[in-house]
Amino acid sequence: MKVKLILPALAEAESPLWRPIKYSLFPPLELATLAAYLSDEDEIDLQDQHVEELNLSDEPDLVIIQVYITNAYRSYEIASHYRSKGAFVILGGLHVSSLPEEALPFADAIFIGPGEDTFPEFLKDFKAGHPQKIYRSKIRTLSGVPPIRRDLIKRNRYLVPNSIVVSRGCPHHCSFCYKDAFFEGGKGFYTQLVDDALAEIDRLPGRHLYFLDDHLLGNAKFSEALFAGMRGMDRVFQGAATVDSILRGNLIEKAAAAGLRSLFVGFETFSPQNLKQSNKKQNLEKDYRKAVQRLHSLGIMINGSFVFGLDDDDKDVFKRTVDWGVSNGITTATYHILTPYPGTVLYKSMEMQGRITSRNWDLYDTRHVVYRTENLSAQELEAGYWQAYRDFYSWSNIVKASVQHDSIKHMLKHFFYSGGWKKFEPLWNFLIKTGNLNHMLPLLESILAKVKGQKATAPSEILLPEKAI
Ligand code: SF4
Repeated sequence: MKVKLILPALAEAESPLWRPIKYSLFPPLELATLAAYLSDEDEIDLQDQHVEELNLSDEPDLVIIQVYITNAYRSYEIASHYRSKGAFVILGGLHVSSLPEEALPFADAIFIGPGEDTFPEFLKDFKAGHPQKIYRSKIRTLSGVPPIRRDLIKRNRYLVPNSIVVSRGCPHHCSFCYKDAFFEGGKGFYTQLVDDALAEIDRLPGRHLYFLDDHLLGNAKFSEALFAGMRGMDRVFQGAATVDSILRGNLIEKAAAAGLRSLFVGFETFSPQNLKQSNKKQNLEKDYRKAVQRLHSLGIMINGSFVFGLDDDDKDVFKRTVDWGVSNGITTATYHILTPYPGTVLYKSMEMQGRITSRNWDLYDTRHVVYRTENLSAQELEAGYWQAYRDFYSWSNIVKASVQHDSIKHMLKHFFYSGGWKKFEPLWNFLIKTGNLNHMLPLLESILAKVKGQKATAPSEILLPEKAI
């Protein structure tokens, strides 16, 4: 059977403000994970429209399309195209799970929730000639999941081909997050077996890894065993975790000892009212500065995530947030305009209040205001968002943030990482065009390498009592 797996390009990837490098970071792991359930006889073509032109003139038997909110319209068009050619088309992903009734008319079958249990079930039904219209995930486990078909990934087109996911979901319930909508009807957080995760890591070439897990420290027992197994593997890696998990116990020291060199941290907002509005309880009364200091003492760079537009935000929020990031030596910042994704608690509450102002999903890209704001106008919010990016990544602020570190080597790492990421667009574009992106990997690995003499653990902080957070 001929099978085509497609990740259609997000609408924002076509904007003049598109930074091609942002969409050439990670390969579509989810599709490569599903491909692992197909048989050796199947002819499989995996295409990611962010890094290659889609070939739509082929004649596959089965088409699987991964749908996000801002590629939904494009996904439906591609689905219709292949259905008109007689292919059986499956739609799945975050947006389909949030709005199945919208996706259903465009597909022969839709998948709600993760596909590890439902995709093998579908394949059995499909081969037997009676596929169902809707597959809803119920059994949540990663044990027995076959190795990802990484051979289908065009590694040279990505900056970070070694991305990996060892868990699904997250133990928290932020109201703006897709997580609860996607995992509804079953477990919302579960991990691989540690040995399976280590075996997957072992299969990856080179040193660098990027864990795309929502919360790499979400299950302390699992993470501890994972990091213990990774010690001595000579890896450097990046991942994401919450403020509270950085401050609690000594897991972060173990992560650093295993090779953690940069962490995406969801600070989101400094306002307790905003944290309550977004049900981000895990950040309430947490000392952000202490979390930053702890990471820096371990040589871990920080990508801080911040949301603008929660109801307690005012006109000063942009400057305040940028200044805080710079004065605390945050290496990179990711700013978002609050976006009420369908299916989330935030969407439901805004809808009840009549605050949703647009249902054009192409605008749900965290750069547009799609709801009625409170203390800021929509124009102020969008202008402030763009200004925050310009200010944080001005050369003067990159230098100012770099010199917050206490060693010259860390200052230089910060400077090259932050400047390299935001200030060398023509070089990135050239590397993408010439298919040489992965040649930057050794440079990334050397920037992330451990600074000689840097402590692997911070003993005084291992004893940090939880109460002191
Ligand atoms: S901590 Fe992050 S991944 Fe978890 S629910 Fe909140 S926003 Fe989602």
